[in-house]
Amino acid sequence: MRVMVTGAAGFLGSHLCDRLLAEGHEVIGLDNLVTGNIRNVEHLSGNPRYQFIKHDVTEYIFLSGPLDALLHFASPASPIDYLELPIQTLKVGALGTHKALGLAREKGSRFLIASSSEVYGDPLIHPQKEDYWGNVNPIGPRGVYDEAKRFGEALTMAYHRSHGVDTKIVRIFNTFGPRMRANDGRVVPAFITQALAGKPLTIFGDGTQTRSFCFVSDLIEGIYRLLLSDLSEPCNVGNPAEMTIQQFAEEVLRLTGSKSTLTYEPLPTDDPKVRQPDISHAKEKLGWEPRVSLKEGLRQTIEFFRAAGY
Ligand code: UDP
Repeated sequence: MRVMVTGAAGFLGSHLCDRLLAEGHEVIGLDNLVTGNIRNVEHLSGNPRYQFIKHDVTEYIFLSGPLDALLHFASPASPIDYLELPIQTLKVGALGTHKALGLAREKGSRFLIASSSEVYGDPLIHPQKEDYWGNVNPIGPRGVYDEAKRFGEALTMAYHRSHGVDTKIVRIFNTFGPRMRANDGRVVPAFITQALAGKPLTIFGDGTQTRSFCFVSDLIEGIYRLLLSDLSEPCNVGNPAEMTIQQFAEEVLRLTGSKSTLTYEPLPTDDPKVRQPDISHAKEKLGWEPRVSLKEGLRQTIEFFRAAGY
């Protein structure tokens, strides 16, 4: 296949490019490098099946030749990124998704959008199943991301229903692994870099809020299976192993061997109190479930940050 990945220089986008190339596909990576890092795809520069285009997906995309699939992964994705870039976040989810869907329609490509567990907001149903409509504050600081993803899903379904585009929607839950940005503010790079530097781990709130962390290789496998499937309804992909942020901090301390202390800071506005994917849909329709344990995934991620000098 000839495949386009938007957000190709991001954490997930770059791992997706690697996987698509390994499967023998031709990949066109698009990124405006606002939160993406070209170093994530530097190793692909000599590959004759890979092409990188610096482009903002909210602007019209000209592409000659056929396109078999388009994976739309461009967006600021960590809470501090989308709080710093609220309008860009809304634009890439709305205008960017529109441009990407327009190109997919024109080329007859299948289309896969990176949606998020954030569409469930601060969930009142636990664990979250795809048929839950969510509990989102549209005007809160996180609303720029949550509503951008929700609008992206709505537009994707409209192109599917009105224009017959072959679309897929993946709802991605917390994912971690090598190539996360050290300073993106998310809990995994924050705790690992703090632990390696011997600085206190900054727990927001009292640490009783929960998350369920999926290693990046598992997530990419789920997305690749979804891309090849005939599912058009949203599909959760994530690891259901749920833990509190306090437990997560203790695990990072154990695995790094760090003597860092724990410090408690205010909980950000609208921070979800619980999050855990119900993955029965992915299991049944894609035959997918995660394989990499938190311990093994964290080992590789800690190694990545150590090698990067942290
Ligand atoms: N968190 C924390 N300390 C940090 C960064 C995040 O305690 O230095 C908490 C955050 O408040 C949230 C959880 O860890 O409850 C996961 O945050 P992250 O930003 O990784 O992603 P989210 O799941 O909120 O999108």
